[in-house]
Amino acid sequence: MYWGRMSDECDATGKGPREFCGLFGIYGHPEAVHKTYYGLYSLQHRGQESAGICSTNGGNLLAHREMGQVGDIFTDEVLASLRNPIAIGHVRYSTTGSSTIQNAQPLLFNYAAGPLAIAHNGNLVNSGQLRREFESRGSIFQTSTDSETIMHLLAQPWDGPEDERMIRALRQLRGAFSLLILAQNRLYAIRDRHAFRPLCIGVLDGTPVVASETCALDIVGAKYVRDVKAGEVVEFSSKGERSFFFHEKPEIPAHCIFEHVYFARPDSRVFGDNVHGVRMNLGRALAKEHPAQADIVVPIPDSGNDAALGYSHASGIQLDHGFVRNHYIGRTFIAPTQGARISGVGLKLNVIADVVRGKRVVVVDDSIIRGTTSRGRVKMLRQAGAKEVHMRISCPPIAHPCFYGIDFPNPEELVAARMSVNEIRSHLDLDSLGYLSLEGLLASVSNPKEHYCTACYNGDYRVPVNEKFEKLQHEQKC
Ligand code: AMP
Repeated sequence: MYWGRMSDECDATGKGPREFCGLFGIYGHPEAVHKTYYGLYSLQHRGQESAGICSTNGGNLLAHREMGQVGDIFTDEVLASLRNPIAIGHVRYSTTGSSTIQNAQPLLFNYAAGPLAIAHNGNLVNSGQLRREFESRGSIFQTSTDSETIMHLLAQPWDGPEDERMIRALRQLRGAFSLLILAQNRLYAIRDRHAFRPLCIGVLDGTPVVASETCALDIVGAKYVRDVKAGEVVEFSSKGERSFFFHEKPEIPAHCIFEHVYFARPDSRVFGDNVHGVRMNLGRALAKEHPAQADIVVPIPDSGNDAALGYSHASGIQLDHGFVRNHYIGRTFIAPTQGARISGVGLKLNVIADVVRGKRVVVVDDSIIRGTTSRGRVKMLRQAGAKEVHMRISCPPIAHPCFYGIDFPNPEELVAARMSVNEIRSHLDLDSLGYLSLEGLLASVSNPKEHYCTACYNGDYRVPVNEKFEKLQHEQKC
């Protein structure tokens, strides 16, 4: 197993390497690789396990992937070695497959028609079945991610037009996928039929830019143009921009509401709404649904910041910073073991005792997943002398696993799948606990409510999941 750096050169001769959730791409800019680097920097919150950039000047594809964070991986030397006008980049955390360099993206491969690189955000629900079919015919997989299946589908023998090859492959995928695919002289931006995960298009000096979130457009100075549509393939080439759909039958979108609740950055526009604005709405709605007799509203930084402000505005209770966050460690949940998560809790936040001592505190956070960190935080507030601790959560209880790309796949790990709200309140040692209702959540965004996936709250899975999903389902094969 390879744990170190991995720089690849993949040519059109058929020899070459492999591998692969935030995405960034740019077609035809003299500083494409540096722009991609800055874009990935602003998408770092979407994944901190590994990052990679793949670039081309119309010939070979060059790629560099490494475990770790963007700022550490891409030195001047690395960026110079990739210098080309067309590039895609990826930051990853694992929803399928383990946290290893083989699984870092963009994945790079050669097939009969030349080299291709792929960067994927989301999760396929039928990758196990597809993979078994390929393996039964002798195909060899190099990674344990679901994303590699897409490459095998694209590489199937096909004599017809290239668009048809793409359409045939994409039609076989089930689940969530926002994709960037880089060929020698083309860049494709693709979104699954339900548009689970975000993907937007911008323009910079006349050059097209694509990114998971608009904050990445802002950082490179690009102007937002539009979102890639559900089921759409947008091709950028020297001939300009072209678009087609891989399914004639339109689906009702199933945008992941958790992007608004937690995942996306507050300065981004996602699914047509500014994330900060939505979170303020969530906080206001929460204050109406679950008022509290309290002295101060304290956000859990950074995940509860915006909702806490909304709660404070609507309730008239003053907001204060009862916690200080250490910004030099990553999101604790991204650490792949429970042990690492637990040790991350105290490292990440500390209480300002003078703020909370003797006070009735309303703590606002976006979600409770396992309950581990929340319990630790309540304990810290009590130890610092808080008189009462009330917790308000800006979404409903998460009681169902996500099969479409958010990292809470195991029902046994979800505290709300095992306990009632009152049991969770007691488990966390709270004076009161209030979750925002699903109606309150869906009233805080501007699309019709049926355009969002809410499976983690109500088990309503828009793409049926037949396989038993396990994060490491392909692991023994690696
Ligand atoms: P816990 O109390 O251990 O469930 O952790 C709750 C904290 O984890 C909240 O501050 C959330 O913002 C954060 N969180 C959000 N999404 C996830 C996730 N997918 N997995 C784990 N923790 C998450």
